[in-house]
Amino acid sequence: METHIKKVLNNIEECSPGQEEFYQAVHEVLYSLVPLLEEDEKYDIHNILERITVPERTIIFRVNWIDDNGKIQTNLGYRVQFNSAIGPYKGGLRFHPSVNLGIIKFLGFEQIFKNALTGLQIGGAKGGSNFDPKGKSDNEIMRFCQALMSELYKHIGERNDVPAGDIGVGAREIGYLFGQYKKLTGEFEGVLTGKAINWGGSHARKEATGYGSVYFADNILNKYDKSLEGKICTVSGSGNVAIYTIEKLYDMGALPVTCSDSKGTIYHEKGIDLNSLKAIKEINHQSLEVYAQVNPDCIYTPLSHYPEGRHMAWDIPCDIAFPSATENELNLEDAKRLVANGCMLVNEGANMPTTPEAMAYLKENNVFFGPGKAANAGGVTTSQLEMSQNASMAKWTFEEVDDKLRQIMRNIFNTAYETSKEFGCEGDLIAGANIAGFRKVADSMIDQGSV
Ligand code: NDP
Repeated sequence: METHIKKVLNNIEECSPGQEEFYQAVHEVLYSLVPLLEEDEKYDIHNILERITVPERTIIFRVNWIDDNGKIQTNLGYRVQFNSAIGPYKGGLRFHPSVNLGIIKFLGFEQIFKNALTGLQIGGAKGGSNFDPKGKSDNEIMRFCQALMSELYKHIGERNDVPAGDIGVGAREIGYLFGQYKKLTGEFEGVLTGKAINWGGSHARKEATGYGSVYFADNILNKYDKSLEGKICTVSGSGNVAIYTIEKLYDMGALPVTCSDSKGTIYHEKGIDLNSLKAIKEINHQSLEVYAQVNPDCIYTPLSHYPEGRHMAWDIPCDIAFPSATENELNLEDAKRLVANGCMLVNEGANMPTTPEAMAYLKENNVFFGPGKAANAGGVTTSQLEMSQNASMAKWTFEEVDDKLRQIMRNIFNTAYETSKEFGCEGDLIAGANIAGFRKVADSMIDQGSV
């Protein structure tokens, strides 16, 4: 089996050079599937590994937009429609200068299994652009979103592919994208999720990934007769996922003491001031340096003071760490520091934030681990609830959506846990989540023949 997996991985590297994050994601998933692949040869007979690692469709296009000086700027737009075996493509759009095909493919590949794990009928996709929203005026953001949608609209639709937000794409960007889609097609349809409440959005979508991540952590702790009550938590990031992780941690009686952005990290021993964090990051899009100015009792450390790739949040003693910013932000050195400081659980709010070496070290040291494709599935779950409300023209209350989210996060945990048990690695939620997600998609691909 290992020889077969190596062959698939070599083939991917040959056909798609330079896509490191994509290889990393595929490597993690394929090796964790070994117990399933050895038990049932049908996946081999149907060449599932070869098929599932290649996107059904990859769209790359030029996005020309006009800046405030009247100059034409050019970026690249991407949509990778990875797998539609169990439903229409679904996955966010990321606007960040680091975006390239390898990043979008890693995110799209992860999304296939995450979406399957939710138990809902949604396929996997991801998209975005190397456009950097930082420092752009509101009008520039609008013109960029309109230019991107002028091409993207040809490839998406409420029954075909329904994008959402991710890094750099929040309610404002979804609004501009939706407006342009409506203008071009003449259709007011649920083609995007993360919409504002007034025009088709769902209550609790904004909060869903962060809340869901905390619900998932709570399920892990409860399984081992522990709870979040009184736990010191470190969180990285200060965007959508991090802010609502911090909010829910307070609700559940825990104490979140850190947050970070691309310039630096805040350590606030008495607990992060949620109101000032929301005002600075969510409303005014400022740097966390401003948080340090209005909260003089916190410690602010610029990321440049840290060795390359290290994150100050992981040096702060904690019971639970919630990496919620970006990929590969928690490395082996960070994992060693977390273990030395007595951390009991790492719960991934971001996609693939923990490096493979760090994951292995945490496992060796018996640290509980909530893998991103399960722990951060609350966002896509609630996106699907938004699609259901759009399709039936219903509007559920915040409490109704939050109850469903909590229930689905419990189901995701149970599925990952029970699957790990079934394959002889009880409590290994990485294997449990990968096998459960893969099995559902692969079985559906087999049912549907050689398409
Ligand atoms: P946002 O854009 O809202 O926030 C991202 C945060 O991470 C910002 O605080 C940003 O800093 C910080 N950040 C980004 N890159 C770096 C970096 N290289 N080093 C340090 N900090 C960085 O994104 P989200 O909160 O939506 O997404 C965070 C993670 O969660 C991503 O991995 C995303 O894929 C994942 N995710 C998001 C979902 C969602 O519903 N939004 C769903 C599932 C997963 P700054 O403010 O300076 O830009």
